[in-house]
Amino acid sequence: MTPVTLSLSHDFADALPALARPWSADPAPAPRLLVLNEALADELGLDAGFLRSPEGVDLLVGAALPEGAQPVAQGYAGHQFGGFSPRLGDGRALLLGELTAPDGSLRDIHLKGSGPTPFARAGDGLAAVGPMLREYVMSEAMHALGIPTTRSLAVVATGREVLREAALPGALLVRTASSHLRVGSVEFARGTGDIAVLRAVVDYAIARHHPEAADEDVPALGLFRAVVAAQADLVARWMLVGFIHGVMNTDNMTLSGETIDYGPCAFLDAYDPATVYSSIDTGGRYAYGNQPYIAEWNLARLAEAMLPLFDDELEPAVELAQGVLAEFRPRFAEARAAGMRRKLGLADARVSDEQVEALAGDFHEMLERKRADYTSTFRSLSAAARGDAAGLEAALGGDPALTGWLDRWRAHAPDAEVMDAANPIYVPRNHLVEEALAAATAGNLEPLGWLTTVLSTPFTARSGAERYAEPAGPDFAAGYQTFCGT
Ligand code: AMP
Ligand code: MG
Repeated sequence: MTPVTLSLSHDFADALPALARPWSADPAPAPRLLVLNEALADELGLDAGFLRSPEGVDLLVGAALPEGAQPVAQGYAGHQFGGFSPRLGDGRALLLGELTAPDGSLRDIHLKGSGPTPFARAGDGLAAVGPMLREYVMSEAMHALGIPTTRSLAVVATGREVLREAALPGALLVRTASSHLRVGSVEFARGTGDIAVLRAVVDYAIARHHPEAADEDVPALGLFRAVVAAQADLVARWMLVGFIHGVMNTDNMTLSGETIDYGPCAFLDAYDPATVYSSIDTGGRYAYGNQPYIAEWNLARLAEAMLPLFDDELEPAVELAQGVLAEFRPRFAEARAAGMRRKLGLADARVSDEQVEALAGDFHEMLERKRADYTSTFRSLSAAARGDAAGLEAALGGDPALTGWLDRWRAHAPDAEVMDAANPIYVPRNHLVEEALAAATAGNLEPLGWLTTVLSTPFTARSGAERYAEPAGPDFAAGYQTFCGT
C-alpha cells in the first residue's frame, strides 16, 4: 500500500542544529501544479494521485506540513568565483525533512522558491516559473543519462508575481536529494570556530553517504577521500556528455557526489573546451574544459575546512590532505578514459589505453577544428561502425585527418551497440529547452511535456522526435547565454 500522506523525519535538524534555522514557507496565493514527476513519486513510495489533489499540492508548497516535519533553512558558506562568503545558506529554500524511501534510503524533500529565509540577505526568496522548470528538465535529463543528481518531484506555480527585469510568474520546485550537504556546509561548520560542530557535520556526512570512512584511522580523511572519488567520477561523467554546470561554487558541490543547483547549466553544442554559457561567468572560470580543475580546486577548499580533523598539528594535516587530493587526477583520468572507451566502442581489452587515448584526442581535435556538434557527432559513430559514415562525413568531412582516423579506428572493430548505450541521441539542447520554457511561461505546457518525454530515454531513437536530435541553427547558437535565475 502506498501511503496517501507524507511522513518525514528531521535527521539533519536534530544532528546539526548549528546549521539549521527552523523556518516555514511563505503562503502561495494560488498554487497550481505545473508538473509532477510520477516515476519519481513511485520510486519514493508516494501516491501521485494524492500529490495532485488539493491536499497534496498544499504539502508540495509547504502550506500544510507533512507528518513529523520540522522544516529548516540550511546554513552553508561558499567560495563563489574564487572569493569566500562565510554566510550563504538557503536564501529561498526550505528543507521540509527526510523521507525514508521504500529502499530504506533517506531522501531530502526540499522546496526552492518558498520565500525569504534568515539567509536571504537582500533576496526576495522567490523563483520564477521558467528557471524552476529549467531545473526540472535538466536534472531529470541528467538522471536519465545515468548521472548522479538531485531530482525534481514537482514544479508548482505559486500565483505570485516575481520581479526580475520584468514581472514573471512565480513558482517553486520540489527537489529531492540524497542530502543537501555541500562543500560549503563543511566550510560553514569550520567558520563557527567550534570543532564539535565541524566534527558533527563530518560524522553526519560519513553516516549518510560514505559509511566505509568510519572504519579508517582518521574518519575525516576517509570522508575526504570518498568525496574526492565521487566528484572525480561525477565530473568525468559531465565531461563525457558535454554538460557544463556553469556555477561550480563550493556551495554548489555536494558531498554525496550528486549534481546540484541547475542554474546557468547547459549542454555543449559545437565542441569547444572554452565554451561558457553563463552570463555572469565573464572570465570563463567555469568553462566546459575547466571543470575538472575547478572540482579539484573546490576539493582543496574542502580539505582546508577539515584540516583540524586530519591531525592536531597543521603540517602533518596538510600533508595528509595533499596525499588524498593527489588521488583526484588519476581517478578522474581513469573514469574519463573508461567512458571514452565506451563512446568510441572500444570495449575490447586488447585495445590499449594509449590507443584509446590517441584516438580520442585526435577525434576531439577534429571536433574542435570543425566546431562540430558534440552529441550528434559522437552518436554518428555507431552508424559509421555499421558501415554508414554519412553522418560522420557531414560533421567532419573535409578534415584532412578524418580518413586516416577512420582507418585506425575501424581496425579495432568498434562495437556499435556499446556506442549506442554510451552516446545519447537526445540531450536537453539549449534551443529546445528555451522553446519549451517560453511556451510554458506563456501557459502552454505541451512542448515541455514532449521534451521531458524524449529526454527520459536518451539513448533510444523515437520516431517523430527527429528534431530533438538536431543542433540549433547557427543564429541561435551564436551568443547563447544562460542566467542564474535569481
Ligand atoms: P545560487 O547561485 O543559486 O547557488 O545561489 C547562491 C546563494 O544565493 C544561495 O545562498 C541562495 O540561497 C541565494 N539566493 C539566490 N537567489 C535568491 C533569492 N531570490 N532570494 C534569496 N536568496 C537567494
Ligand atoms: Mg546554490
